[in-house]
Amino acid sequence: MNIQRLLEKDLEKYSHYHQYGKVPTYIPALAKADPTDVGISIINTKGNSFCIGECQKKFSLQSVSKPLALILAIMDNGKEKVFSKVGMEPTGDPFNSINKLTGADKPYNPMINAGAIAVTSMIKGKNSLKKFQRIIDLFKKLSGNENLDINHEVYSSEIETGNRNRSLAYYMKDKDIIEGQVEDIVKLYFKQCSIAVTCTDIANMASVLANEGVIPKTSERVIPRNIAQMVRTLMATCGMYDESGRFALTVGLPAKSGVGGGIMAVVPNRFGIGTYGPALDEKGNSIVGMKILEELSKKLDLSIY
Ligand code: GLU
Repeated sequence: MNIQRLLEKDLEKYSHYHQYGKVPTYIPALAKADPTDVGISIINTKGNSFCIGECQKKFSLQSVSKPLALILAIMDNGKEKVFSKVGMEPTGDPFNSINKLTGADKPYNPMINAGAIAVTSMIKGKNSLKKFQRIIDLFKKLSGNENLDINHEVYSSEIETGNRNRSLAYYMKDKDIIEGQVEDIVKLYFKQCSIAVTCTDIANMASVLANEGVIPKTSERVIPRNIAQMVRTLMATCGMYDESGRFALTVGLPAKSGVGGGIMAVVPNRFGIGTYGPALDEKGNSIVGMKILEELSKKLDLSIY
């Protein structure tokens, strides 16, 4: 099947789906996105790329950063230490939920905010600046884009309004789940969420996970194979907020969405896919991205199940 042609058809057929969703407003800077934008990018494990729509448009990574930061935390600390502080079970709760955190001895998984903040707190570095440098260096390597940078407006907006995340972090500090200064940790987490990318950047990142941790174009290994597998598994079980079960049925791929409108999906040994569409459904997933991934999965027989 001609992938470029397929993308063209899907874009034409489903881009109006944005009207069933809304851009988020709880981080005010995100409300400025154009809800009609749609971009889709696919990179196969041979390094060939296909894209359609707004492939140059930048948006913030938001929760798409969670599996990527997890890679670094596991490489820094080993899986035993990381999973002694964060669980590996889906919650069925919204991404920023406080309820399940207070009833458990650690956050349920690294794909919800509490778990991701704990993961970010474990990333090594002499100070916050050095830690952030290590995070963005990994993201640059995975995306093949040396120019990645943060969107300062989104970052400031998160600092101003991120009190739910602060409360999750203070609770975890009280329970000795995280070490260090809470404000430093949440700022580092906000920074990683604010990194601006295109759907092609996230398709490239996904292609490394699809290719067992090796960059398709250069054959350089960046992630140990077992860590790539672990992260894909958590994406498959917990990556699409409290819609992960439905996504497993309709699309059947390890994926991570973010409230910036991006979805990073991995087709093991075949493709990395990045989609952009800032209008979100009520769970926080890009409504056009979900629909287009569902169609691609059907037509290209992508489900891993
Ligand atoms: N920075 C966002 C927050 O913490 C990320 C949420 C998301 O993309 O799910 O609220």
